[in-house]
Amino acid sequence: MDLYEYQARGLFEEYGILVPRAEVTDSPRRAREIARGLGGRAVVKAQVKTGGRGRAGGVRLAADPAAAEHAARQILGMDIKGHTVRQVMLAQPVDVEAEFYVSYVLDRAAGRFLAIASAAGGTEIEEVAESRPDSVARVPVDPAEGVTCAKAAEIAEAAGLPPQTVDVLVRLWQVLVREDAVLVEVNPLVRTRQGQLVALDGKVTLDDNARFRQARWGEEKTEHGDALEAAAAVKGLHYVRLDGEVGIIGNGAGLVMSTLDVVAGCGARPANFLDIGGGASAQVMADGLSVILSDPAVKSVFVNVFGGITACDAVADGIVRALETVELTKPLVVRLDGNNAARGRAVLDAHAHPLVQQASTMDGAARRAAQLAHTS
Ligand code: GDP
Ligand code: MN
Repeated sequence: MDLYEYQARGLFEEYGILVPRAEVTDSPRRAREIARGLGGRAVVKAQVKTGGRGRAGGVRLAADPAAAEHAARQILGMDIKGHTVRQVMLAQPVDVEAEFYVSYVLDRAAGRFLAIASAAGGTEIEEVAESRPDSVARVPVDPAEGVTCAKAAEIAEAAGLPPQTVDVLVRLWQVLVREDAVLVEVNPLVRTRQGQLVALDGKVTLDDNARFRQARWGEEKTEHGDALEAAAAVKGLHYVRLDGEVGIIGNGAGLVMSTLDVVAGCGARPANFLDIGGGASAQVMADGLSVILSDPAVKSVFVNVFGGITACDAVADGIVRALETVELTKPLVVRLDGNNAARGRAVLDAHAHPLVQQASTMDGAARRAAQLAHTS
């Protein structure tokens, strides 16, 4: 889960990293008051979980409270890379002398962390890495050793950052470790004209495997515009609505992706992406079916399962039990293959349902589902 900038800023503050005074609101009128409280001038910043806000017009310097209200009015509701702005943060402006980039990111392949740092902060690091690769330092961090003062000094040195940044680098590492983050990024970390180091922006991605001890952040509020996607999200399903007529259920994201392609190859259009993953319990199958069947555009449903650790007969049992709770209103084509496929097919045959039919190959099943979608 990604945190908003204002949440990351709050964390940095807790760990003793300097941040500008700031407050969040969803109201332009309140923005005016906040700006007044900050001394008149304010940087008005869109709170969305994506970068490049500055370039998109989502970061504006307001010279007085009235200008802050005006800027907030313009930024609220703005769409930045598909994210709707619901809140703005007003921050006290600082006089920037130099902009740096510092981050720690989990390097899964190497089984350790990577410190990425640069004295050329401000713009997106990908661009700096492309145009001036030498100015971006990458220093591996052993998770067991962590970032000590000596390690921080090594990172600062490699990136050409002033020695002053050592303290921030150590504190930022503490944020990462103690908050179970897989990414912490400050861009820009600035040196002010008064000589202080201040984090002007912050990105923190928490490790979802540690959600059990992250109660303070609450449930992630997904910004679903689509009612079916919202309903699916509540049930914990990995569902994406598409605009076709063949409902799709599969186990494994890769299999579902290729199922979409095969259905499209048969001249039909997939109505959704739905990965029910391993396990494939009756409950998940029933939840998935009910979401798909409530899409009025759906004309047929294709269940494509490759039995692995969860064998096909277990999946077939799940389908049979799901059909006891969900009223099937559209034809269902099931293709079972892999572990215990024959037993799975036998289970479905034994519980014959007028709207359920089986196909032995993925292509055959997709053709059948496409035909049914066109004739029903
Ligand atoms: P991003 O575009 O989403 O990364 O948003 P940032 O929070 O990084 O803001 C974009 C840019 O606005 C920063 O790189 C800074 O150059 C600038 N900026 C933000 N706050 C201030 C401030 O208080 N003073 C000054 N001078 N510039 C700021
Ligand atoms: Mn930034």
